[in-house]
Amino acid sequence: MAKELHVVFVPYFTPSHMIPLVNIARLFASRHGVKVSIITTHYNALFFESSIDESGQQIFVHKLKFPSDEVGLPQGIENFSSVTASEMSLLFMGIALLQKPMEDLIVELSPHCIVSDVCLTWTVDVAEQLKVSSDSESFLIPGLPNKIEMKRSQLPENIKTNPEGPYWEMMKRIKESEPRSYAMIHDTIYDLESTYAELYQKIKGKKPWLIGPLFYFSKREESSNSRNTAVQERHSCLSWLDSQEPNSVVYICFGSMGRFSDAQLTEIALALEASDSSFLWVVRNGDKTQENDQKNWMPTSFKGKMLTNNKGLIVRGWVPQLKILNHPAIGAFMTHCGWNSILESLTAGVPMLTWPLFAEQFYNEKLVEVLGCGVGVGAEVCHSTFDITDTIVKKENIEASVKMLMNASKKSETTRSRAKDVEATIKRAVEKGGSSYNHLTALIAELKCHVFGTLKE
Ligand code: UDP
Repeated sequence: MAKELHVVFVPYFTPSHMIPLVNIARLFASRHGVKVSIITTHYNALFFESSIDESGQQIFVHKLKFPSDEVGLPQGIENFSSVTASEMSLLFMGIALLQKPMEDLIVELSPHCIVSDVCLTWTVDVAEQLKVSSDSESFLIPGLPNKIEMKRSQLPENIKTNPEGPYWEMMKRIKESEPRSYAMIHDTIYDLESTYAELYQKIKGKKPWLIGPLFYFSKREESSNSRNTAVQERHSCLSWLDSQEPNSVVYICFGSMGRFSDAQLTEIALALEASDSSFLWVVRNGDKTQENDQKNWMPTSFKGKMLTNNKGLIVRGWVPQLKILNHPAIGAFMTHCGWNSILESLTAGVPMLTWPLFAEQFYNEKLVEVLGCGVGVGAEVCHSTFDITDTIVKKENIEASVKMLMNASKKSETTRSRAKDVEATIKRAVEKGGSSYNHLTALIAELKCHVFGTLKE
């Protein structure tokens, strides 16, 4: 059966607004598969009801009682065309009182869409409330080139509410300053997300300059990527990787800031044990555990089965991530989807096990999904702090994703091959004549033109 679109119309209380909106409602209802509900009051319905009765379309008029007694207006005075100047403020009060019953009715009707008069500004709040009924329900993000679904719980707090505090203030200021800037430089690659770059330009009215990956452009991987440049000796984890089979090791690192609870570390350990996969796992010093506290989270069998027999290695502190990702033993990267980590993995051709934690990381995970270069572990909650204590990704989910990528299967093969294609695309982009190279050339030319008024030197 064809799906029916249910649209609720909420007209304002003056004929010049009400009649056009009701006409839109009638036009909608004249099309196949559209059901229309109009919300108004008893006396306001008299303005248009007769025209609707005759149409025989799917139009339902819901008439609420105007709070005449509450505001002290005579019965039947519910519209700006019938009030005296002195009654005007009473009508405004009545309309304000109607908000709650109207909201309740819209929620009860649960339409697919609300078409409201601009004066009834609160309808956007109801629309927002109706968009998803729970934090864990998936919704489609409209207007994107790909079919991208997310859950409310995966969105950063400032998308859902108006959070306070220095971090959110900074985010607000960034957003405000963006349209006032000449242009934006992006650490990404046009060839990977050209349709999104085009969309950005269409929405923002400015050309985005995609000149990444910056780390690769600047050949950072050739220099030491230790934080301490004085330490030049090879990190011991690289020697350990030398002893492993090609593509056999899952590299697990959640960036520089995320801190997991003991309970979450245990789930990861159990998953690694159950999937029987080799791993190189960076456990942050900041994780809510200490080396000598391993007994708090490490399952008893894990140490013997996975660590003592060299199946896996746990390292603490800072590791040379670029060198690790480019080591032939690495078969997958379990990542928190920090943008640098994503770019580094894509450039190394390493498929990802995506586990976003906070900020924009859930969006980054979607890019990996669109590119087909990874498998999600099933993270559901975007955190507002670096301490990840409240939500646990279960062992079963982690285990399933590790197995999906590390065991031989069609899915694993396709993902690996996509990762290699993406690596090649990125490496081409930074070469002379590639998209990132050309974007930088064009940006500098445009700036010169802007400053000197000519393209010539
Ligand atoms: N990194 C590293 N060694 C570590 C942890 C992180 O070299 O032990 C680097 C990693 O290569 C990346 C950056 O730190 O360049 C982390 O940035 P990202 O955007 O991925 O995440 P964030 O730390 O900002 O959450």
